[in-house]
Amino acid sequence: MSHPAAPGSPGRSAAVPTVTGVRTTERSVGGAGIDATRTRADACPGVVSPHLAADGALARVRLPGGAISATALRAVAALAEVAGDGAVHLTSRGNLQLRGMDPDDPRPVQRLDAAGLLPSRTHERVRNVLASPLSGITGGVADVRGLAAALDRDLCARPSLASLPGRFLFAFDDGRGDVAAERPDVCWLAVSDDDGELLVAGAPTGLWCFSADSPSLLLDAAETFLLLRAEHAEDPDARAWRAVELPDAAIRIGDALVARWGTTRAAAPTGPGRAAGPSAPTLDDSSSRVEGLDGGSSRATGPRGATPPRRTPAAAEPRRLGESSCRAEGLDESSFRATGSGGAASTARRTGSVGSSSRPEGSDRSSSRVVGVLGSGAVGAAPVLGELSVAQLRVLAELAPDVIVTPWRTLVVPAPHDPGTALDRLREADLVVDPQHAALRVSACAGTPGCAKSLADVRAHARSLVTSGADGPVHVSGCARRCGAPHGTHTDLVATGPRTYTTEEHR
Ligand code: SF4
Repeated sequence: MSHPAAPGSPGRSAAVPTVTGVRTTERSVGGAGIDATRTRADACPGVVSPHLAADGALARVRLPGGAISATALRAVAALAEVAGDGAVHLTSRGNLQLRGMDPDDPRPVQRLDAAGLLPSRTHERVRNVLASPLSGITGGVADVRGLAAALDRDLCARPSLASLPGRFLFAFDDGRGDVAAERPDVCWLAVSDDDGELLVAGAPTGLWCFSADSPSLLLDAAETFLLLRAEHAEDPDARAWRAVELPDAAIRIGDALVARWGTTRAAAPTGPGRAAGPSAPTLDDSSSRVEGLDGGSSRATGPRGATPPRRTPAAAEPRRLGESSCRAEGLDESSFRATGSGGAASTARRTGSVGSSSRPEGSDRSSSRVVGVLGSGAVGAAPVLGELSVAQLRVLAELAPDVIVTPWRTLVVPAPHDPGTALDRLREADLVVDPQHAALRVSACAGTPGCAKSLADVRAHARSLVTSGADGPVHVSGCARRCGAPHGTHTDLVATGPRTYTTEEHR
């Protein structure tokens, strides 16, 4: 790739100084393992439990599926104005962040609760749910709108899931591969308008279910993750935060779900495209415990009336499911639509990753990141470095009843009241609506003065890259943690001093 903005090179911004070293990192999907030095439980911030940063309390507001109403957006803007630093920051998980608040100020909890943005105090940090932002608007093979909200409701109703790490990520991908590429821990990836596969830590499990059943399947997968991580490390403070940290997570979670759902006899949902399923829905406690795990806490919770997920017996090349049926691993024949030959799950299937065989043909994960005119009357915009002013928030709230925050720090206005003037209003508000704008290629962490760990004013330097026209994706960080770095190919600039950086290519 070309070098992004060639920091420090002649003709580029003088504000981004010397590059002192270059490294190339090949990213991998699975098998990361747990950091041997970990001695604490995950502590991602929320609203009830904000993080105390160098510039005051930092509160993260979860938006499952990135969706927020105009009314709630106005409430957030007002809060940022009176209790924060006057800005609202978009995060790499499609959430909002407020900074610079007084940790003893009760107004953030009171006002966000009143705006409907705190439906659960116990589960607020685990409501991390992505959904393809353009689903139902343009592209994709399924409409996943509504699935994130359904999962969120059921998530908050399961007490056991309040103990998920704040980093655990759910996702519903409409088949274009956009949010599946964000490395969610559990993801339902559509392969048709009503059917999709469960991915765990980016790897296909060979388990498929209808879209209506996908929230329950993802939640059961999350419960299984909790059991596995407790098996893996006795010390609660040393347990995995992400599924990718557990060995063979896709295999083990998939096997546990087969035991949990596959032995459950349930009525098949009816509707176009759905296979006829077995009848007589009952949950059989004696057969629904997760094999090899603690039985008392692993009873089947597959929803009554749900169709058990089907498992491809040899999904080395998971494709759109064909017509042939076969029997495998104790599941009823009618629960399967197999794609290949052979016995139980293959090694190749189990080590696959998103973006290869699991992604349906024609998928386009870059299409969700576009700003400007998006189709079906929708428009997209981006704030520079993901930072929205109160005035910009109020403009957005005037344009439509709802807005979607994407994991790429952009905004989708799905149904503006007046599509013809919406783009002009966004442009006038200094939001980026030109798909070629350099701001879409530059991101940065909080840096100085917001983060005590930062060695440089990275946001000032990142803005200079925008001004000088960065020619490739670049993320500027104040230290080696590289908070908020994108998952795709990009260059990391990591500060080594107030005006010096190392650069690292990520592919
Ligand atoms: S990357 Fe380092 S400096 Fe930047 S926000 Fe994270 S911890 Fe702070």
